[in-house]
Amino acid sequence: MRQTHLLIPTLRDDPSDAETNSHRFMVRAGLIRQMAAGVYSYLPLGYRVLRNVERIIREEMDAAGATELLLPALHPSELWKESGRWDQYGDELMRLSDRQGRAFALGATHEEAITSLVRDEVKSYKKLPMTLYQLQTKFRDERRPRYGLLRGREFLMKDAYSFDATDEGLDRSYRSMYDAYSAIFNRCGIRYLAVEADSGSIGGTDTHEFVALSGIGEDTIAHCGECGYAANVELAQSVPPDAERTTAARADSGQPENPAAGPQLTDTPDVRTIAQLTAYLSIRPAQIIKSVALLVDGKPVVALVRGDRELNETKVKRLLEASSVTMMSEADIAAKLGSHPGYIGPVGLGPDVTIAADEQILSMTAAVVGANEPDRHLTGVAPGRDFRIDASGDLCTAVPGDLCPNCRKPLLLDKGIEVGHVFKLGTKYSEPMRATFLDDTGKPRPFQMGCYGIGVSRLLAAIAEQHHDEAGIVWPSSVAPFHVHLIVASSRDDTQTALAEKLYDELRRAGIDVLLDDRDERAGVKFADSDLLGIPIRVTVGKRAAEGVVECKRRRDSEAVQVETGNLTAYIR
Ligand code: ATP
Ligand code: MG
Ligand code: MG
Ligand code: MG
Repeated sequence: MRQTHLLIPTLRDDPSDAETNSHRFMVRAGLIRQMAAGVYSYLPLGYRVLRNVERIIREEMDAAGATELLLPALHPSELWKESGRWDQYGDELMRLSDRQGRAFALGATHEEAITSLVRDEVKSYKKLPMTLYQLQTKFRDERRPRYGLLRGREFLMKDAYSFDATDEGLDRSYRSMYDAYSAIFNRCGIRYLAVEADSGSIGGTDTHEFVALSGIGEDTIAHCGECGYAANVELAQSVPPDAERTTAARADSGQPENPAAGPQLTDTPDVRTIAQLTAYLSIRPAQIIKSVALLVDGKPVVALVRGDRELNETKVKRLLEASSVTMMSEADIAAKLGSHPGYIGPVGLGPDVTIAADEQILSMTAAVVGANEPDRHLTGVAPGRDFRIDASGDLCTAVPGDLCPNCRKPLLLDKGIEVGHVFKLGTKYSEPMRATFLDDTGKPRPFQMGCYGIGVSRLLAAIAEQHHDEAGIVWPSSVAPFHVHLIVASSRDDTQTALAEKLYDELRRAGIDVLLDDRDERAGVKFADSDLLGIPIRVTVGKRAAEGVVECKRRRDSEAVQVETGNLTAYIR
C-alpha cells in the first residue's frame, strides 16, 4: 500500500493523556484514536495489527477443536436475571432500555448468552464435548478506563466456552484451551506467566490468568524461580462481591458475624494491629494493602479502600469513634487533595510506612501514595521490598522474603498485564439456567462448562508495551502491520522513484506485505515515522539507486546493510 493514500496520522509529540509507552506510541503512530474515555477507533494500521492477532487466535482455537460463532451484544435483562448476575454484576454492566422500557445490557461477557443457546440446541451427550468461541466487542463501564487499549470500556475479546458431560471432560477441555493460549501468546511474542488466579465475578473453581510481564501492569504476580509456582496477588486480596455485600448487610442489621470469620471483638473495638483490624472488618490482611495513608489537616489518616466502596461502613464508623484513625473513601481523599481518584494507589509498608514488631499500624509516616508528587505523595514504594506474600499466598505487611508454598524458596514479585483468563465453571451457569443434556442412560444432567477469555485489544497494547524503544514500537513479525517499509529517500528523484516502484511490485508479487512511503517529505521525517510505526524491515531507495543497491535495516537492529536489488527478496525472507 501507498502511504500517500493511507490514513496514518503520525504525531511528533506525545499525547498529554498518555501515561504508558504503548498508549503514547499507538496514538503517535496513528494506530488508534480516542472517541470517548475508554472508547477507541482502530485506524488502518492499528486494524491490520488487530487482524493479525485475530488470525493467530483463530488458527490456534480452530486447531484446538473449537468453532467460531457470533453472539449478540445486546442482551435482554431476563437472561442475566436467570443467572442472578443482573443484580450481582454491579455498575460495570452497561444497562439501557428500549422504547417500550424493557431493560437490556450490553454484553460484558457471554456466559448467559452461550448457556441459553446451548441449552436450546444441544440435547444429547453425543454432541459433547463442544467448544464454541467468538471474537466480539465487549462493554464494561470501567471505573477507570485508561492506558489506551489496556483498559477500555468498549474492547475486543475472544471468548470461548466449553461444554462437557463430565468433570474429566472439563479437565481435558480446560487443558486444551490452556495449551492453545500458551501457543497464542508465544506466537504474539509476549513474555508471560500463567498464574493461579481469582475467579472474581465470573465464578468457578480452577482458574489461571495469562499475565504479560510489564512494569505498568495492574496485577502483581508472586512466582517462584525454582518450581514454577505462580499466583496473582489478587487471589489473596479478593473478597467476592457477594461476600462483601453480605457482610455489610449483616453488620447493618446487627446480626452476629460468622464465628469462622475470625476472632470476635467486642462492640468497643480494641483494634491496634493489622490482624485485629482485618478480623474486625472481616477482610483479609491483603486488603490492608489497598489502603491509603495520608496527612489531612496535619493528622495521619488511614483509609481502607476496595474499589470506591468503604469496607463495611458500620464497623468502620464504630472503629472511628473509638480510635484515632480516620477512615475515608478513596473518593473523599481524592476530593480533599483535589486530585483524581486514580492517583491514589496502594500504600506500601516499609521505609515510608513503619510497622512495629507487634504489627502496630498507627506509626506510619504521613504521606499520600500514587501520584509521586514531591511533598504530597509517598514515593518509591515497591512490592517485594515493601510488602510481601506469605506462604498461603496472602499479601501481608512486614519484611520481604516470603516463601513459595510448594518448595519453600523465596517468592519473586513482578507486575503484569492480564491478557487472558481461563476458568473451570462447572455447573455454575448450567444449573441455575437449567441447561441440561441427556446422558447415556437418558438422564438429564447439567453441562460441565469452562470459559476462556483473551483481551484481544489489550493484547495489542501489551505487545507494544513489551516491544518498543525510545523511537517507537518494534512489532514482532507475526503481528506487524506490514513486513517491509519501502522508503524513497527523495520522491523528487526519478531514478529513486522508478526503482522503488519496481521493487514495490516485485515484493508484492512475492507475497510480501509492503508499505511504500512515496510521500513528498524529507528523508529524516520518513525515517522517524518509520521507527514510530515499527515495521520489521526498512528498505531505503536512496543515493545508490542508479547502481541497483538499496539499504536494508531491521527495526530492532541499529546497523543497516547495503543489498543489491537482485538479492532483496531473498534477504527479506
Ligand atoms: P481486569 O482484572 O483487568 O479488570 P477481568 O479479570 O475483569 O480483567 P475477564 O473478565 O477475565 O477480565 O475478561 C477476560 C479478558 O478480557 C481479560 O483477561 C483481559 O485480557 C480482557 N479485559 C478485561 N477487561 C478489559 C478492559 N476493560 N479492556 C480491555 N481488555 C479487558
Ligand atoms: Mg475487570
Ligand atoms: Mg482480573
Ligand atoms: Mg480475569
